[in-house]
Amino acid sequence: MSKIQFTIDGKGCLADPGQTILEAALKNEIYIPSLCRFEGLKPAGSCRICTVRSQGRYMSACTQPVGSGMAIENIVPDIEDMRKSLVEMLFVEGNHLCPSCEKSGNCELQALGYRYQMLVPRFPYQYPLRNIEPAGPRLLFDHNRCISCLRCVQGVLTKDGKPVFGSVYRSGKKYVRVDQDLAATLTDEDAKKAMEICPVGALLKKEVGFVVPIGKRKFDKAPIGSEFTK
Ligand code: SF4
Repeated sequence: MSKIQFTIDGKGCLADPGQTILEAALKNEIYIPSLCRFEGLKPAGSCRICTVRSQGRYMSACTQPVGSGMAIENIVPDIEDMRKSLVEMLFVEGNHLCPSCEKSGNCELQALGYRYQMLVPRFPYQYPLRNIEPAGPRLLFDHNRCISCLRCVQGVLTKDGKPVFGSVYRSGKKYVRVDQDLAATLTDEDAKKAMEICPVGALLKKEVGFVVPIGKRKFDKAPIGSEFTK
């Protein structure tokens, strides 16, 4: 099958037909920041951090297939500033207290905050009132940190394929709810995987804390995306 030729920030790239811009970028060792994408899950296009521009049109790189001859703009000042503003919005819209979070150093939102050198968000903090609840006997669900990326909705399933988490309502009222009966069937292994699927510290495996100390975690060692951009 013939390859599709395109460019990202002027660098010549090749893609297979049907590949999304984000998949093709990673194959070409180019990092496009994203939060809702998770390897093996269908792209949801929910966070919009991966927005790129081609021929003046904006598109989410995780859902848009590559077209022949596309000239994609990725790491350019105005798009990077737009991504930074999205990260800031996510921070002010929830309650993200990084220093006390078990996911600190492994959190993709925090890592993007560092990437964009976020200090004081340009938007006012909302301080929403949100609850913390169990998700079955093995998981803790802290809604303060949930960014509604929907990775858990697709990726955390029971043995017979039923979704444990679901998204309810829309826009500002949207939130992720847990089916406690289904969550009760999750194994330790499922709970560990759910914690990995969640990009932030909203889903935590119970009775596990600070096994790897802060300072020695994934993004403490190397910035997010550094493994892709050569
Ligand atoms: S709980 Fe985690 S994985 Fe699920 S929607 Fe919220 S942030 Fe995303």
